Amino acid sequence: MKTTTSLSSLGEFGLIDRIRVRFPQPAPPELGIGDDAALLSPSPGMQLVVSTDLLAEGVHFERSFGQLHLLGRKSLAVNLSDLAAMGARPRWFFLSLAIPAGFPLDQIEAFLDGLAEQAAEHGVLLAGGDTCGSKSGLVISVTIMGEQRPELLLRRSGTRPGDDIWVSGSLGDSALGLRLLLKDKGSIGDDATEYVVNRHLDPTPRCGLGQNLAEAGLASAMIDISDGLLADLGHLCHQSGCGAEILLAQVPRSTPFDAVTAGASPTPWQLVVAGGEDYELCFTAPPARRAAILETANSAGVPVTVIGKVTDSGQVVACLPDGSNFQPSASGYTHF
Ligand code: ADP
Ligand code: MG
Repeated sequence: MKTTTSLSSLGEFGLIDRIRVRFPQPAPPELGIGDDAALLSPSPGMQLVVSTDLLAEGVHFERSFGQLHLLGRKSLAVNLSDLAAMGARPRWFFLSLAIPAGFPLDQIEAFLDGLAEQAAEHGVLLAGGDTCGSKSGLVISVTIMGEQRPELLLRRSGTRPGDDIWVSGSLGDSALGLRLLLKDKGSIGDDATEYVVNRHLDPTPRCGLGQNLAEAGLASAMIDISDGLLADLGHLCHQSGCGAEILLAQVPRSTPFDAVTAGASPTPWQLVVAGGEDYELCFTAPPARRAAILETANSAGVPVTVIGKVTDSGQVVACLPDGSNFQPSASGYTHF
């Protein structure tokens, strides 16, 4: 749809109307957008699982990367990933926007299109939000609500020494993609470059895998990798009172990652284990469950790999292929 209106002529309520018509709404007796609060009913016997994330221009994204459509997809993806890490099924979300005056309406609509696409892919309904102006950049806050049977939910605590450490997918693509975007904004070279840039701009939340692992009772603890493997595995170990030893040579990298970094010596381990924004799952489980885990992951269509063992040391140690320990220059992104 071609937009001729501006944000200022549309106004706050005009914008909320444009948001509402793009998203299917909860059906009565539930209530979504339009009243002072939403009315939602989790399924009987289910625990409500709630998470929220902020995306701020200049901190989490640059508008110069373009692709507001992908930013819409990512705004929900990062929240879906949090629910995946708990093993919950996503049901509803809330969208709060602080928008700079004069922000082009067609870019907001592209953002909403991407958001609506991701919502439809995961069967999650927009149930409300808040809208205001911003004196600085665009700020997006998404709160997501899902559900799961309480006894099946996976926490960061719960792992034991001797458990295997697993990760889904491949690590480092997103951090490499971001590095390329910052160096050479928006211009995409070959297929490998396009792949890693896309992994940064349009990450895939591992919802099916997270739910399947929880429902099969296979994992002892789980976290999603948003700040980098070493940082997030560190959180999991800390909350479980354990340590970890991982073998870097076993940490899965994608073929495009290796193609783009070919010739880089040594291997850019920093990107792989401390880059962040992978939105892959890291989970632990007793070794006896290996075959069942591989089967579950296969049915979710996501590769999973054992990368090390939980220890009783209280430390997370990453071993380089030559046997020495890798020291990250920073173990993950820190805001302050
Ligand atoms: P209040 O003044 O009580 O904050 P609003 O006028 O902000 O209410 O919101 C009116 C309705 O529109 C509410 O149902 C609210 O959840 C919804 N809403 C407001 N902003 C958004 C948004 N960005 N996305 C989705 N729903 C929104
Ligand atoms: Mg409001």
